[in-house]
Amino acid sequence: MPAPSSPASFMATIVSLCKRRGFIFQASEIYGGMGNTYDYGPLGVELKRRVKDAWWRAMVTTRADVVGLDSAIIQHPKTWETSGHVLNFTDPLVDCKTCKARFRADKLDEVQCPQKPSRTPLENKCELTEPRAFNLMFKTQVGAAEDSAAIAYLRPETAQGIFLNFKNVLESSRLKPPFGIAQIGKSFRNEITPGNFVFRTREFEQAEMEFFVPPGDDERWFEYWVNERFRWYKELGLRPEKLRLLKHEKLAHYSKATTDIEYEYPFGWGELEGIANRTDFDLKAHSAASGVRLEFFEPETKEHYVPYVIEPAGGVDRMAMTFLLDAYNEEQVEGETRVVLRLHPRIAPITVGVLPLVKKDGMPERAHEIEAELRDLGLTTFYDEKAAIGRRYRRLDEVGTPWCVTIDGETLKDGTVTVRERDTMRQVKVSTQELGAHLLGALRGWPKG
Ligand code: ATP
Repeated sequence: MPAPSSPASFMATIVSLCKRRGFIFQASEIYGGMGNTYDYGPLGVELKRRVKDAWWRAMVTTRADVVGLDSAIIQHPKTWETSGHVLNFTDPLVDCKTCKARFRADKLDEVQCPQKPSRTPLENKCELTEPRAFNLMFKTQVGAAEDSAAIAYLRPETAQGIFLNFKNVLESSRLKPPFGIAQIGKSFRNEITPGNFVFRTREFEQAEMEFFVPPGDDERWFEYWVNERFRWYKELGLRPEKLRLLKHEKLAHYSKATTDIEYEYPFGWGELEGIANRTDFDLKAHSAASGVRLEFFEPETKEHYVPYVIEPAGGVDRMAMTFLLDAYNEEQVEGETRVVLRLHPRIAPITVGVLPLVKKDGMPERAHEIEAELRDLGLTTFYDEKAAIGRRYRRLDEVGTPWCVTIDGETLKDGTVTVRERDTMRQVKVSTQELGAHLLGALRGWPKG
C-alpha cells in the first residue's frame, strides 16, 4: 500500500513524522508557535543540506559553464525599484467584512473561511472588500535613523543579487556566454496565505541559477533547462507520474516564456520549480538605473551585447517536502505496518545504520570501530543498540536509511557483517574489509538496475 488515502490525513501523517523524528518543528513552539514558520531538526537539516548539495552538484560542480555566488540579503533599495518588485511584486488582497480575515483574491477557492472551516469564502458567500494590491516584500530599516531614506528590503528572490554581480563575475571568472551563475539562499515574502506546511512560508530558501546566453539562442537554452531540471527531479527519485510541466499563459513583466515543473501534492498540483526566459530585462534595467554597462563584449565580432537570461528557480524547502511526501510508503510486513521513506540514498539524512546484534560479547565495541571507519569515508551513520533488531530496522526505515550494517557473533569470528537493504529488506554478508567499498558502490550505483 502506498501512502494514506485522504489528502488531509496524509499531510497530517507527514507533519507528525517530521516532528516525531526530528525533521521539521513548529518555530517558537514553547511560546505557542510562530504561524507558518518552521525550524529544521537534526534529520531535516541533513535532508535539506543533501538536497542543496545535489542541486549544487548538478548545477555547478559537474559543469564547466556555471559558477556560484553568495550575495547579500539586504541590497541597495534601488535594486527592487529597478527590478519592478516595488511596483509589481504584489498579490491581490481582500478582507472579509464580517470576520476581518484576509485572503488572496486569486486563491479564494483554496482557503478556508475561519468562521466555517469546511467552506471556502466563496462557498460561504462572505462579504469581501474590493481587491487591493499588497506588496510581498518585507521592509526593514538600515542604520539608526527612522526616515524613509533608511528603508531597505529583505530580498524576495536571490536572482537580483546575481544580476548586480554580473560584471564582477564576468570580469573575475573570464567566462563568456553561454554561462551561468548559481546561488542558494534565504528569501522572504510576506505571503498573505501561507500554508500547507513548508510549501509556502514567509521565510524560505531558494536555489536559483541565471544562465546568460547570446540573444537568439535563448529559446533553445530555455528548452534545455526545462528538460534538465525535470530530469533532475526524476533522477533523485520522484515518481514521474507525479510530475508535469505547465506552460504559463499569463507572463510576469520580465518574462518571454515560463514553464513550471509541477508536483501532484495531496492538496493538488502545485509549482515545485519555475523556469523562465527573463530576456535581457534585468540587465538592461540595472544598466539604465545604475549607469554601469552590464553587457558582454564579443572579441571575435567586436560587438557589445546584453545577454538573455534563462532562470531555473526552485525552493529548497518545497523540494525537501516533496521528496518526503513522494518517498513515504506504508506496507504490510509480517502482519504489521512498516513505514518506509524510499528516499534516494544521496538525500537520505542517515546513510548507514550501525547495529550490534546484542549489547554484549564485544559487539558494541566492534560496531563503534566500524562506524568510525564508515564516517571517515564521508558516510553519515547512526549507531543504535537499543531494542530488538527488527524494531531498530523499522525506526531506520521510517527515516529513509538505505542500509543497515549488523555486527553479530560471526563478525567477531570471521570478520563479516550483515548488510540489509531498506527497500527489498534483502540481507547480504560482506567482509568488514570490503564494507566501505560495498556501500560506496551501492550509493554510486543507485538506482539499482
Ligand atoms: P508561487 O506561485 O507558488 O507563489 P512563485 O511563482 O511566486 O511561486 P518563484 O518566484 O518562481 O515562485 O520562486 C521560485 C521557487 O521558490 C518556487 O518554485 C518555489 O519552489 C519557491 N517558493 C516561492 N515562494 C515560496 C514560499 N512562500 N515558500 C516556500 N517556497 C517558495
